[in-house]
Amino acid sequence: MRRTVFNEDHEAFRETIRAFIAAEVVPVYDEWMQAGQAPRDFYKKLGELGVFGIEVPEEYGGAGETSFKFNAVITEECARAGVSFGGSGVHTALCLPYFLKYATEEQKQRWLPPFVSGDMMTAIAMTEPGTGSDLAGMKTTAKLSADGTHYVLNGAKTFITGGVLADRVIVCARTAPPSPEDRRAGITLLVVDTTSPGYAVGRKLDKLGLKTSDTAELSFTDVEVPVEDRLGEEGKAFSYLGQNLPQERLGIAVSAYAQAAAAVRFATEYVQEREVFGKSVASFQNTKFVLADCKTEVDAMQAVVDRALDAHDAGELTPADAASAKLFTTERAAVVIDKCLQLHGGYGYMQEYPISRLYADTRVTRIYGGTSEVMRSIVAKSMGL
Ligand SMILES: Cc1cc2nc3c(=O)[nH]c(=O)nc-3n(C[C@H](O)[C@H](O)[C@H](O)COP(=O)(O)OP(=O)(O)OC[C@H]3O[C@@H](n4cnc5c(N)ncnc54)[C@H](O)[C@@H]3O)c2cc1C
Repeated sequence: MRRTVFNEDHEAFRETIRAFIAAEVVPVYDEWMQAGQAPRDFYKKLGELGVFGIEVPEEYGGAGETSFKFNAVITEECARAGVSFGGSGVHTALCLPYFLKYATEEQKQRWLPPFVSGDMMTAIAMTEPGTGSDLAGMKTTAKLSADGTHYVLNGAKTFITGGVLADRVIVCARTAPPSPEDRRAGITLLVVDTTSPGYAVGRKLDKLGLKTSDTAELSFTDVEVPVEDRLGEEGKAFSYLGQNLPQERLGIAVSAYAQAAAAVRFATEYVQEREVFGKSVASFQNTKFVLADCKTEVDAMQAVVDRALDAHDAGELTPADAASAKLFTTERAAVVIDKCLQLHGGYGYMQEYPISRLYADTRVTRIYGGTSEVMRSIVAKSMGL
């Protein structure tokens, strides 16, 4: 079926990204895998290409687009090539909306130009060692100084994507203790300079997949954060997270769909080349049926993702819509990619085959951005349950 979700501008952008990936990422991707992260200067290249500025208004050096679909194109093209842009997806898909919606004019002028150029890479730190799904349970504190000039930040975060290379991290911290009536009140966003005294990057975490994204533990010991670096109003962070998590979840849904589509393509090519018992793997009826099932599942995922992308660009994607799209695509992608790996036999288990990377990378889509169980809770709540 013809896909109607992307216009000519999106498709022209796709060509640019595809060529960029072929020239700048595929030849060096093994080195990034070994290093466990994309090199810092690669992010400058993405900045020069304009990738970080697509949705940033022109007055701050961006292209002023309002469509999240450009982001979806990048995700699709990375999956198609079996690569990623390191941890930089977080910079644009997760962090940017917070800057665009809640930064003051002074903050936008200060932060957005280096955000666009890649000179200031960002990450977002919500999760703590003791709490992930239950964000209201976070323990990191930010206490306003007696003279009201700065917050004093103490605590720890974990699993922070882009946390090793980030220059500024949006940290969620308690500026007031939870009240019995509303556990979610009292959380504030601070845009913390990672060179501040007392700010420390702990271990770069060794993950099952997503080998080129730097995922880190962070700790804060009496870090002084100027009040000028608070994002939005004090105590309102939970509602800000609620407004922005749907885009994060849509982005994850796009990535799960794109990874499943790529897996079907890799498997379809592989089974035609590989011979067993004197004939191609593709010639077995089982292979044809498995791949036909997988393609049908991918078509269904694409329909869900495209509808959600249109709804999001129209400002109509609800938290339950996003949760449902994430739940469906990530759960089905896991099944599809597993079947496609099986068709590769032992080679599918080898790192040098992109299907093995897809298998490992897709696993986390059912966990981060909110687990499948949390997605089910959100959907059930929207049903009045
Ligand atoms: C690779 C990676 C990158 C990440 N990047 C970031 C990042 O950049 N920034 C950031 O802040 N966080 C990040 N995270 C954290 C991620 O969002 C959390 O891991 C996730 O939200 C789950 O939290 P948890 O790990 O504490 O699991 P837990 O909350 O401890 O969950 C454990 C289990 O309990 C289940 N569970 C929890 N609550 C319920 C419930 N109400 N009903 C039923 N079951 C429930 C969960 O579904 C899960 O199966 C990342 C995680 C990973 C793995």
